[in-house]
Amino acid sequence: MTYAPQFKDKTLDELKAMETKCAARTGVLADPIMLNILQMEIASRQGAAGELPLYTHDCTCCTFLGRFDWTGDTYDLYFCPQIEFPTVIARYGDEGWEYTSGMESDHPALAEARARAEKAGLL
Ligand SMILES: [Zn+2]
Repeated sequence: MTYAPQFKDKTLDELKAMETKCAARTGVLADPIMLNILQMEIASRQGAAGELPLYTHDCTCCTFLGRFDWTGDTYDLYFCPQIEFPTVIARYGDEGWEYTSGMESDHPALAEARARAEKAGLL
C-alpha cells in the first residue's frame, strides 16, 4: 500500500535512494518534512522484517507491520491511526471485507499486530 500518493509509482529501491539523498540534505530533497514522508512511505511498504503485503489494502493511512502466519492462513498486519480511534487490522484476503480489526480483540493475529505496533512506537 502507499502512504504518500505522490510516490506511488516509485519502487522501494528508488524511495530508499531518495531517503538517502534527503537525509544528506542535498539538492531538491533537502526538506525534513519530505524526509519524514519518505520514511513513512518506506515503512508502510515493508514490514518490520522487510516483507511486502500479500493482499490489496486500500487504506492510505495504515502502516504495514509485516505478515503473520496462524493455523495455515497468512495475515497482513496493519496499524491504522484513524483520528481518535487507532486500531490494528489483520487482512486475510484481497476483498474489502476480508479483514478483522479491533484493539480489544483476542484474535492471535490482532494481538500480534498490537505487539508489533507497540514495539514500533505507534501505540
Ligand atoms: Zn488505515
